[in-house]
Amino acid sequence: MSTVGILGGGQLARMLALAGAPLGVRFIVVDNAPDACAGQVAPLLKADWRDFAALEDFAQAVDVATFDFENVPADTAHWLAERTQVFPNPRALAATQDRLAEKNLFRELGLDTPAFAAVDSRADLERVLAAIGCPAVLKTRRLGYDGKGQFRLKSAADVDAAWSALGGVPLILEAWVAFEREVSLVAVRGRNGEFCTYPLVQNWHADGILSASLAPAADTQALTGPALSHARAIAEHLDYVGAFALELFVSDGRLLGNEMAPRVHNSGHWTIEGAVCSQFENHVRAVLGLPLGDTSALGISVMLNWIGELPDALPVLAEPRAHWHDYGKSPRAGRKVGHATLRADGSAEMRERLVSVARALGREAQVAPVIAALAESRSHA
Ligand code: AMP
Repeated sequence: MSTVGILGGGQLARMLALAGAPLGVRFIVVDNAPDACAGQVAPLLKADWRDFAALEDFAQAVDVATFDFENVPADTAHWLAERTQVFPNPRALAATQDRLAEKNLFRELGLDTPAFAAVDSRADLERVLAAIGCPAVLKTRRLGYDGKGQFRLKSAADVDAAWSALGGVPLILEAWVAFEREVSLVAVRGRNGEFCTYPLVQNWHADGILSASLAPAADTQALTGPALSHARAIAEHLDYVGAFALELFVSDGRLLGNEMAPRVHNSGHWTIEGAVCSQFENHVRAVLGLPLGDTSALGISVMLNWIGELPDALPVLAEPRAHWHDYGKSPRAGRKVGHATLRADGSAEMRERLVSVARALGREAQVAPVIAALAESRSHA
């Protein structure tokens, strides 16, 4: 019986623990919030990332430590790695914590990115904006997620507002890409180098937060091979172990790297019911050195995120082949509190299900782009 320790006790840790339980794996989650939602399904150690006395007991109790949150301080990851096995390794975690280092790594390994440059002063911002052009987006290099720590500049007149919103910490300015679509690839690498990927997924965001995912994405024959090669190159370069997501823009038919999440990812939640082996089970298998499970999709899945508060569960539960996930969190604006996954064998069936669920929940706007993508798809019969 192995015990996996998870730093971070949110919904990702919760779904990891639920996926690992049938394998006989035990979990301990660490979070400084006493109501961290993974604590409802696994023992919760309430401790701060830098409370090394509390983490000492944790390190002794677990066989392997992993993360549900990428912004665990790098020194905590290094400290833990001296006491227990840590996957993904602290170097991989650190490489993804800084947007500038991450984009430089993508380029070094042959994955194009939007034009970008470091910004450390207001003068830098003016100079770099003149070079990159508008529209552009200013982002904090560290600690940003779900669109937090970002400011969009439509013209040079926005420099003052952007600087007063974010100035004072290391920043990166990126060209704003008028992408055709956003896709992501969830990949898993085992301790012995075994590597597998789930099908490419198309994602839609609202206010910088994932709103819906379609898996597999439609019409991606030309993109799948390159996306897989990029993910493999990054994973091998970092000696990465576990699941991760590569978030990509499709622009003029080409892939551009946006960011990498060194953990299981929201755009992979559909795999719980929509793939043979979920991203969560595969992450647990990977960090424990077990063989990886089959990543094939079972038909088409659409994942709808519930942000802020849960809608009524009943219309979803009444739908055949729909799955409800309530993370057990209290409602709060911008907070991910749950999701639903709908499954179907074909595009027409999926569109029917989406129309019916959206009408019952008053969520027509959330599903509209997914229905449009399915209607235009040549690959989803
Ligand atoms: P991020 O936290 O960087 O993944 O940004 C959240 C979302 O904002 C992305 O998924 C995109 O929808 C959008 N976004 C971020 N950066 C850019 C960019 N350079 N060009 C266009 N859209 C972007």
